[in-house]
Amino acid sequence: MTDNTLDFDDLRPPGAYITAEHDKWRQRVRKFVNEHIAPHIDTWEQSGNIPDAVFVAAADANIYGSGFPAELGGNGGNLDIYERIIFAEELHRLGSGIVFAELATHWIGLPPVIDLGSDTLREQVGQAVLAGKKRIAFAVTEPSGGSDVSRLKTTARKTDELWKVNGCKTLVSGGLRADYILTAVRTGDEGIRGISLLLIDGKSAGVRRTVVDGLSWYSGAIATIEFDDVEVPEDRLIGVENSGFTGLTKQFNVERFSGIASALALSRVCLSEALKFSRERTTFGQRLIDHQVIRHKLVDMIRTVRGTYSYLDHCVWRFNNGDMPVADLCMLKIQATEILEKCAREALHITGGSAYTGVSRLERIFRESRIFALGGGTEEILKDLASRQLRF
Ligand SMILES: Cc1cc2nc3c(=O)[nH]c(=O)nc-3n(C[C@H](O)[C@H](O)[C@H](O)COP(=O)(O)OP(=O)(O)OC[C@H]3O[C@@H](n4cnc5c(N)ncnc54)[C@H](O)[C@@H]3O)c2cc1C
Repeated sequence: MTDNTLDFDDLRPPGAYITAEHDKWRQRVRKFVNEHIAPHIDTWEQSGNIPDAVFVAAADANIYGSGFPAELGGNGGNLDIYERIIFAEELHRLGSGIVFAELATHWIGLPPVIDLGSDTLREQVGQAVLAGKKRIAFAVTEPSGGSDVSRLKTTARKTDELWKVNGCKTLVSGGLRADYILTAVRTGDEGIRGISLLLIDGKSAGVRRTVVDGLSWYSGAIATIEFDDVEVPEDRLIGVENSGFTGLTKQFNVERFSGIASALALSRVCLSEALKFSRERTTFGQRLIDHQVIRHKLVDMIRTVRGTYSYLDHCVWRFNNGDMPVADLCMLKIQATEILEKCAREALHITGGSAYTGVSRLERIFRESRIFALGGGTEEILKDLASRQLRF
C-alpha cells in the first residue's frame, strides 16, 4: 500500500521485481548520500570539484563496486541490473547529476579493461579503481563529432613495442583528473573495423587536458584531451586490434539503463518540488493545487513517470532473463528524457520566480536535463538504431 504522500519515494510505483534485498541496497546507498554528499553538494556544484576522499569513502561503504567482481574489490554477488538503477536513482535524489557523473564513470571505463585486458592490467587497474584510489574515464567523442564513431580520427600507430597516439577527444566525463583514459583510437582502415581501445595513463608525456566549461553539470571534471605523440605500451591494447567497436556497443546498452533511471529520478524530484510548492502557495484566495489547470499539469507528469517506470521494469525483467532489449532501451531512453524535460519545464513554471532565487534544485535540473538527450546516444541515433533492430 502506498500512502500517497507523493514525495520522491512515493512517486516511484512499486516494482513487481524489486525485492527486500533491493530495498536494503537502496537504504545503504541512501545512507551514504545523506552522510557524505548531501552536506556538501551545493559547494561542490559551485567549485565543480569533488574531493578524492569521496571515492574512497564510497568504496569503503561498499557501494562503489556495483556489478564488478569481488576478487577485484567489487560487490561480487551483485543483485542484478536494479543495483545500478537504484544507485542512479539515489544519487539523483538531491537533484544534481554531478556526483553521479563522477561516481559512475568507472561503470563505462572499467568493464572493457576487466573483461578484455591482460590479467596484470585487470588486477592492477581494477583493484586501484574499485578501491577509489584511481579514476578512469572513457574517451570516444572528438571535436569533429561524437555520433558517428566510425569516423573517429585519433590515430594510434605501432612503432616497436609501443603505440603512438595523436588526436583529440572532448566532452570526456571525469577526464580532467582521470588516472586512466580508456580511449577509442583508429588503428586500421576507415570505418568501424579499424577502431581499437587503448588504456592511456593520464600522466603520460604528450597528454594535455583542458576543462570544458559550459551549460551542464558545472563540473570542472569534463575535459578536452589532446594527444601529441603519446607513447602507450603495447600491452595497453584492450581487446583485439581493430575490434574495439564491439566493446563500445556493449557499454552503451548498459549505460542506457542508468541514463533512464537517472532521468526518471530527476523527474520525481521535479514533481515532488512542484507538488510541495503548489500545496503551500496561495494565489487568488486558494491553494495553487486547487486550481484545476495546476492539478492537470501534475497528473500529466505523474502518469507519464509511472507509465515509463512500468516500461523500465519490463526491460529489466527481460535483461535479467538474458535478453538485451536494445530497441526498447533506445526508445525508453528517449521517452525518459522527454519526460524529464517536460517535468523540469512544468515544475520550474509551477514554482514561479522562486526557482530562480538562491540555490534551486529545479533550475539546476532544468539546465541538466538536456544532457540525457546526448549521453549514451542522441535521440536521432537511438531512433535509427531502434528502427534497425525492429527491422523496418
Ligand atoms: C555532459 C556530457 C558528458 C559527456 N561525457 C562523455 C564521455 O564521458 N565520453 C565521451 O566519449 N563522450 C561524452 N560526451 C559526448 C556525447 O557522447 C556526444 O555529445 C554525443 O555522442 C553527440 O556527439 P556530438 O556532440 O559531437 O554531436 P554530433 O555527432 O555532431 O551531432 C550533432 C547533432 O546532430 C544529430 N545527428 C547526428 N547524426 C545525425 C543523423 N544521421 N541524422 C539526424 N541527426 C543526426 C545528433 O543527434 C545531434 O543532435 C558527453 C556529452 C555531454 C554533454
